Amino acid sequence: MSLKLHNSLTGQKEHFEPQNPDNVTLYVCGPTVYNYIHIGNGRSAANYDLLFRVLNALYPKVTYARNFTDVDDKINAAAKDEGVDISVFAEKYMQAYDEDMAKLGNLEPTIVPRATEHIGDIITTIEALIERGHAYAADGHVLFAVDSFDDYGKLSKRNTEDMIAGARVEVASYKKNPMDFVLWKPSSDDLPGWDSPWGRGRPGWHIECTAMIQKHLGETIDIHGGGTDLLFPHHENELAQGTCCSDHSGGYAKYWVHNAMLDIEGEKMSKSLGNFIVLRDILNEQPPELIRLALLTAHYRSNMNWSEQLLHQSRSLLDRLYTIKRDGDALITTDIDIRDTEFFAMLLDDLNTPKAFANLHELTTRFFKAESDDERAALKSEIHAIADFIGVMQMDAQAWFQGTSDDSALSADAIEALLEERVAAKEAKDFARADEIRDQLAAEGIQIKDTREGTLWSRDS
Ligand SMILES: [Zn+2]
Repeated sequence: MSLKLHNSLTGQKEHFEPQNPDNVTLYVCGPTVYNYIHIGNGRSAANYDLLFRVLNALYPKVTYARNFTDVDDKINAAAKDEGVDISVFAEKYMQAYDEDMAKLGNLEPTIVPRATEHIGDIITTIEALIERGHAYAADGHVLFAVDSFDDYGKLSKRNTEDMIAGARVEVASYKKNPMDFVLWKPSSDDLPGWDSPWGRGRPGWHIECTAMIQKHLGETIDIHGGGTDLLFPHHENELAQGTCCSDHSGGYAKYWVHNAMLDIEGEKMSKSLGNFIVLRDILNEQPPELIRLALLTAHYRSNMNWSEQLLHQSRSLLDRLYTIKRDGDALITTDIDIRDTEFFAMLLDDLNTPKAFANLHELTTRFFKAESDDERAALKSEIHAIADFIGVMQMDAQAWFQGTSDDSALSADAIEALLEERVAAKEAKDFARADEIRDQLAAEGIQIKDTREGTLWSRDS
């Protein structure tokens, strides 16, 4: 049983082989904390949470680090606007991020390092780069010399022209090559700053991830993750620094994993288009499990289209799961090892969630069609194992059905009452009334299905 992952470095799907199977290392670039995160950030976080869960099922120990960028020019500017210290400002959004992640059902990473708590490590890493001839100090800045690293561009597969065009490279007098990027920059008195061998200043963005990786995970990590938007320049720069800062032969990261972006109803999400979705808003409006499931259904390397239709499909699958949870109460289920399921086998293939969820859907269909209690119990056991593994179906079934009805829809109690009345009508051979109830429910978007256990129902939307 082994995991295959698409490695951006080689452009190939590869068998994942950790350096040390007793401690697998995973690093994912976290948020810059100056506002609430959007649904696209939520997608990325849910995808890496799934990868973390898969690794945890395969290996005895996984060390997963995800950072907080808590010093950055955007944070500095926003904190200044509000007249508070950056630590106060960042703290507010780090707490909000933690709340959003918990609500989305993501497990906590093993380590959550913050940039401002690693200034000493950042300085040490920059000093090593200077000493080894890969960086130079000029005009209060320290810059990485891209000419000193032959493989620069290898990860994002760009040539110098593409890179200059893509990064809106700042041409500055103190740079030897316009592509050279900032490791350290000077801070004026009104900006946050720390003492360093190059004067009072603050780190550039890229260096923090490398310094934190070296400190917490080691010189070479197994998996480095992030969005495709980080491929260049952030990850290209991380790779350059991380390869050049020490003598290690294993490279900076063995596998680079990148998740694709998210569109809204076929359009790029942007504040100017008015289709910007803040994750915490939608988590308040909809059941968090619905958002989680919807975010996981697209393959992480495919662009995802967030749409009403997607929410509708995801709700329909969750309705099926909760119908099984509610109506299969009396069935005797057994513990199933998730690694024995077809669902998990599909995840092992580069986290193929579309296939895995199709499998889950099929299991629910088989449950509803099953002819014996033994068969139903076996299917329910498997479905529960999968749902627990991915972190859904964790609510009380009744709460789920009641929670999904808006004010204009029939409540679960009202539906149950009508179904009871329908049973009574049938027993009294009042088939006209029984049919009338079925039609009334259908008009409300409630589909019903008669089984030997009684009548199952689900909502259309
Ligand atoms: Zn990073």
